[in-house]
Amino acid sequence: MSRLNGERVLVRDAALADGRSSRLTLGVSLLVENGLVAGLWTDGDEPAAAQVRDVPVIDGSGATIVPGMVDSHAHLAFPGGGRWVERVLDPPEELVQVAEENGELLVRAGVRWARDVGAPRWHDPDVGADRALNLTLRDRWQGRADRPYLRAAGTWISRKGSMLPGLMIEVEHAADLVTAVNQQLDEGADLVKIYLDGPDPAAAPFSAAELRAAVEAAHERGAKVAAHGTLLAGNRVGAEAGIDSLEHGNELDLDTVRVMKRNGVTLVATMAVWKSRAGFAGTTRGDFSGPAAEKREAALRETVGASFRLAYAEGVTIAAGTDSGGGSPRANHLAWEVEALVEGGMRAEDALAAVTWRGGDLMGVPEAGRLVAGGPAHFSLVHGDPLSDPASLWRVWLTR
Ligand SMILES: [Zn+2]
Repeated sequence: MSRLNGERVLVRDAALADGRSSRLTLGVSLLVENGLVAGLWTDGDEPAAAQVRDVPVIDGSGATIVPGMVDSHAHLAFPGGGRWVERVLDPPEELVQVAEENGELLVRAGVRWARDVGAPRWHDPDVGADRALNLTLRDRWQGRADRPYLRAAGTWISRKGSMLPGLMIEVEHAADLVTAVNQQLDEGADLVKIYLDGPDPAAAPFSAAELRAAVEAAHERGAKVAAHGTLLAGNRVGAEAGIDSLEHGNELDLDTVRVMKRNGVTLVATMAVWKSRAGFAGTTRGDFSGPAAEKREAALRETVGASFRLAYAEGVTIAAGTDSGGGSPRANHLAWEVEALVEGGMRAEDALAAVTWRGGDLMGVPEAGRLVAGGPAHFSLVHGDPLSDPASLWRVWLTR
């Protein structure tokens, strides 16, 4: 543990990037007392000498303070990689171990909060009942400095025939959707995850009215609805139904992004997935190499990029995540997502906002991804300027 992790510490004369401005704030000193932000000073100002007597000082010169990041789309129980789909079927006891490793990796990478948007069910020994594995993790990690705060969606809810059988809660008839939502919330889910890619790629698995009933049921209980959507038909219905977040949003058209904007639907971008898959052309022997696969991947990247630019141009609120485990990236790759967002046309301050306070807003945790006096002192010191060089987010020097 570094001095930065002490109950009291003063970081002196660093820069600050908080996703609010296109320019760094320089000469920033940040005082931590009792694990909370006691104050922020800028332009070389500092707390009074009497206030910081005996407080350990870290010279932050040349480093940039970045608020603890928020991964808005993660699957902590899975390892990701070239065979990410196969790995989700590993035994639950092994997945719990993977999750412990992933939790540690996140904190080291400066990611303090995460939305776990889907995990399989298992027999949870802690509560003596069946429930989603991410609820177990959330409860086990509560109060641990070396694990992120989790908000967990329980298990995915899908229309029967959409995905691997046995992994999700499968709804045979749309009328059962509300029951499934309530069941997940009864088991302790913080939010609900609904799958909008249906058995027929050209058709949404639920109507807007059916989905709206599910959204209302969740909202009545104070929970949000996150919906997985890669295909246009489902995404359109999700936007109309007023889901809280569309996860991925690979295929979007102008009409759909305008409805998202009007209904306050946040897009949770997962753009690094495509960078990760592009790399597999050279590192794997399987489904990603060869001319046909590379052509397919390039076309997908093109579609996702165009949808993202459309949503951004129309002013849709954008948060972001790794999709680690549910896709090929690994748990500690959120910096890569910021790079992908900037390459996709997003201003760097907006990309940083997407992985900090925008994520906090979506989670409904106002202090997540923000540094405010009296709030939790979770931040990193990175080497460089994330506003001109997003890759500096990989260069975490110290974090707490
Ligand atoms: Zn996912």
